[in-house]
Amino acid sequence: MQHIPFNNQYVSLGDTFYVKTSPLPVASPSLIKLNDELARELGLSVSNLHAADAAALFSGNSIPEGAEPLAMAYAGHQFGHFNPQLGDGRAILLGEVISPDGERFDLHLKGSGHTVYSRGGDGRAALGPVLREYLVSEAMKKLDVPTTRALAVVTTGEEVVRERLLPGGIITRVASSFVRVGTFQFFAAKGDQEAVQKLADHVIERNYPEASEAKNPYVALLKAVVDRQAALIAQWMHLGFIHGVMNTDNMSIAGETIDYGPCAFMDIYDHDQVFSSIDRDGRYAYSNQPSIGLWNLTRLAESLLPLLAESTEAAVEVARGVLETYIDHYQSEWLAGMQAKCGLFARSEQTNEEDKALIEELLNTMAANHADFTLTFYHLSQLPSQASEQDSDIQAMFESQGELENWLAKWRQRLTKETLIDTERQDKMQAVNPVYIPRNHQIEAAIRAAEDNNDFSVFHELHEVLQNPYVQQQGKARYSLPPEPDEVVQQTFCGT
Ligand code: AMP
Ligand code: MG
Repeated sequence: MQHIPFNNQYVSLGDTFYVKTSPLPVASPSLIKLNDELARELGLSVSNLHAADAAALFSGNSIPEGAEPLAMAYAGHQFGHFNPQLGDGRAILLGEVISPDGERFDLHLKGSGHTVYSRGGDGRAALGPVLREYLVSEAMKKLDVPTTRALAVVTTGEEVVRERLLPGGIITRVASSFVRVGTFQFFAAKGDQEAVQKLADHVIERNYPEASEAKNPYVALLKAVVDRQAALIAQWMHLGFIHGVMNTDNMSIAGETIDYGPCAFMDIYDHDQVFSSIDRDGRYAYSNQPSIGLWNLTRLAESLLPLLAESTEAAVEVARGVLETYIDHYQSEWLAGMQAKCGLFARSEQTNEEDKALIEELLNTMAANHADFTLTFYHLSQLPSQASEQDSDIQAMFESQGELENWLAKWRQRLTKETLIDTERQDKMQAVNPVYIPRNHQIEAAIRAAEDNNDFSVFHELHEVLQNPYVQQQGKARYSLPPEPDEVVQQTFCGT
């Protein structure tokens, strides 16, 4: 029976782009979670499968009809150092589907076994990181951030060797494309211009069809990727999200958040927060993400150079012109999002300048007072335009009150320019200031219960709460709270 209406295009690019590889069967797969909502969106009839059939499907033990499994080739700058040969070392592209809405998606297994690109790795994934990816990527979706999605997670019934033995897991991911900046670098570094162009044509047709109408479609492609990436990173910043491994192989060409490893949301606001254990110099710290975005896009522009103009000199000029738009685009996205978080909707060139200063003052006050990032904005979104008893909720986030009180007075002064009544303004603020985010200590608790006690109830409950991040849910207040001192997660690990 065919559950998945595959319609595969990437495979037709030819075998310099991938190596056909089947997932390696696992001992005893068991289905932990199937994303029915996503399955419906994709038009897959997998929700009524028997548990054993679903486990076989989402572990790669049975290859669905129409799948053409392959490991994609790519290169990438890892922490600034170029590696010409990466590729799917523990993932498999099963194939592509076209959703009932006419959109094309890739279905990918991660943790599915050894490939020619595994280098020294075992091709497997531990259950913990797989559960983290499921929770965080689905939370990002509900927070309206472009992201790969999670369709299913299974345990494998096998152990993987890390610092200790850990249970294995496999996640089925869905993306608008698994092509990365590093995919372009792979061919550019080999001097295979024809392949770069073929890949660019593929990406334009699939993800940026409007670029094909431009005078030079490749310039339009670069500009569109730059715009999407600027907007994406601005959204991360609005939520206190830290990707953790912004290597060029982990930057999607489609502008989606991809490759959730040691990612984390911050609790206390700290501009220079780093969680990842492998990010020793803080290259991918919270505050560095916008500039790293540009660094990565510059690597993309270099890979596309020969397509941008006739001469190298002219191409460099074109690339520079496009890349120069990134900072402005990022800054205007960042400011608009932060203004919305603060309820500042009546905007002009002059208020924009003043709002930027006002927002930066709030962030500095939060940092000085170790305020929780998410809850500060959440409580702000509850406040009336006149000082009120409710101010005590936001005050409780700050160690001392003087600077905050000053700030609130300035904020309320600024609110006098707004035309919305309080309840309208509060509704709009609450639509962008979540009460629930996937906090590290809660993810950790879900992983611990699953790995140590084979108890998935913590994972399921956390996932459920994160489905509705913007509304208080009865009896779920603890999910909105920052960690107790003994619960604080200082470091995250990619678990590869
Ligand atoms: P990442 O930083 O997790 O995105 O991975 C970087 C590269 O290492 C990619 O080429 C992965 O496919 C590869 N890789 C990561 N973990 C493993 C593993 N356990 N086995 C084989 N390859 C891996
Ligand atoms: Mg990766």
